[in-house]
Amino acid sequence: MCGIIGYIGEKNPIDILINGLKSLEYRGYDSAGIALKNKDQVETIKSVGKIINLEEKIKSTDLISSNLGIAHTRWATHGRPSEENAHPHQSGKITLVHNGIIENADELREKLKKEGISFYSETDTEVVAALINKYYEKSPVDAITKALQEVKGSYALGILFEDNEDLYAVRKDSPLIVGLGQKENFIASDIAAIIDYTNKYILLEEKEIAHIRKDKVEVIKEGKVIDKKIEQTNLEKDSKDKNGYDHYMLKEIMEEPVVLEKTFKPYLEHLDSLPDLTKYEEIHIVACGSAMYAGMIGKTLLEEYANTKVEIDVASEYRYKNIIYDRKTIVILISQSGETADTIAAMRKAKEHNIDTLAIVNVKTSTIARESDSQIFIEAGPEIAVATTKAYILQVGIMALLAYKTALTKDLVKEEHKVLEEAEHLPRLIKEVLDRQDEYKEIAKEIYKEEDIFFIGRKIDYATSMEGSLKLKEVSYIHSEAYQAGELKHGTISLIDEGMPVFAIITDDTIKDKTVSNIEEVKSRGAKTIIISNESWDNQKLQVVVPRISPYFQPLLIVPTLQLIAYETAKLRGCDIDKPKNLAKSVTVE
Ligand code: GLU
Repeated sequence: MCGIIGYIGEKNPIDILINGLKSLEYRGYDSAGIALKNKDQVETIKSVGKIINLEEKIKSTDLISSNLGIAHTRWATHGRPSEENAHPHQSGKITLVHNGIIENADELREKLKKEGISFYSETDTEVVAALINKYYEKSPVDAITKALQEVKGSYALGILFEDNEDLYAVRKDSPLIVGLGQKENFIASDIAAIIDYTNKYILLEEKEIAHIRKDKVEVIKEGKVIDKKIEQTNLEKDSKDKNGYDHYMLKEIMEEPVVLEKTFKPYLEHLDSLPDLTKYEEIHIVACGSAMYAGMIGKTLLEEYANTKVEIDVASEYRYKNIIYDRKTIVILISQSGETADTIAAMRKAKEHNIDTLAIVNVKTSTIARESDSQIFIEAGPEIAVATTKAYILQVGIMALLAYKTALTKDLVKEEHKVLEEAEHLPRLIKEVLDRQDEYKEIAKEIYKEEDIFFIGRKIDYATSMEGSLKLKEVSYIHSEAYQAGELKHGTISLIDEGMPVFAIITDDTIKDKTVSNIEEVKSRGAKTIIISNESWDNQKLQVVVPRISPYFQPLLIVPTLQLIAYETAKLRGCDIDKPKNLAKSVTVE
């Protein structure tokens, strides 16, 4: 969530810090701030809203000269977005930035208040600053260690000490890396923030403390300096560019054929590299948001075509529920970032019960990638728009392949050659679907002034509708709901009014007649229906017809249409498409 960047070296850090914060903007934030330090003083500047506000404030301030600084974008968890609550926070000799949540902040604050310490913000973060200050005598590492022994929760921290020339960092359950440059070093919550300066970095593990000078980095674990592997990212500098598109969301949707070619095809050609799910008696899929809807597609395909029972749950529920693990089970975790806090907790719960975990992730260095027993990397490249598109398509593609492989293993696939041949052509077919932007613009024009929209579908088409509805909500702020087509009449149909748009997804031949009846039901109550299907429908004005392919892969052609309709609608409504309000890219808090 939000972001951290820090710099120590020979340059003035301001441009580096601001540039870094801009690269992290996509993660979602509500305020930002920086702290600069030199021998004599520490100076902080903060502002609410966009980074441009911070930049303007910096321009109009006479700042101290410095070669050391930390910066932060905040996604408020404790205390409203305000200048006082924006980071960095200071207490005594300590200035720090924090990503995460301190769960026992209230308790610690009360205790510290009784000891005479004053607080100036509503944040949980300030408590950590106060605590480190309390324990700070001579050694920063000792003070950090002692303070963190009392802290419960998640944190990535970048810390400055008033009478010390170095930069310190530590993390638990929130990502943080140390970037390694020439006579300069960095900290960052995401490699994207520092990729313009270095591609080498150290991954901090839980509770390891980094002591960073411009020409030396020491990592301390349980009081001892340890050796750390130097990692190298293959992220390209220009992966942060929009490549001429108006928005990252559009650029990333348009990359779908390319990423499918790169990731999906090799797995398709080497199905043996995917895990054999038939070894398990029970399969749990656990994820959040769009990843959860990719899981829904996986569950439907596994049940329909591979005759395999699947349980699915959102991670925030799964982690706290009484899960009965009484059969040989595998837990499949789906997360783009691999840092989704709830999904991490669900994974750790399964591991505590000695249950096999399989992660479907994009970020190879992430916590879920590192802690799960086995991984399938989707290799979507960086996804900058907050609303996921290309990563989601690949999650669906991988789930479809897992279902297909399971069906093959169980000898349930009919016309294997035909299925494989169609799958081979998917990148081209998706491109064809994406190239029909005029059609999506027309549909967007029909719906962009509305405030309520329904999506209906049955079975796999219901799973796909859920993502269509979510995407529209995320980027256009139109309220929409996805319903199982047959369920609408059990209450919700009372909301259908004259002219209300209802999207109906119809691709599953085994059930389409039933959905058609449901369409008639809403039509006769005045709904304006839009059909997204793999066949064309007579007397239906608004419709999108995509090529018909094997049911395993059909959602991969429906989803891009829904993504582009959401995009075009948001554009007509003038929304901040790449950074929708209140949302964060990787949800690293509970
Ligand atoms: N919990 C802290 C706050 O509300 C940090 C939030 C963040 O990760 O940005 O200030």
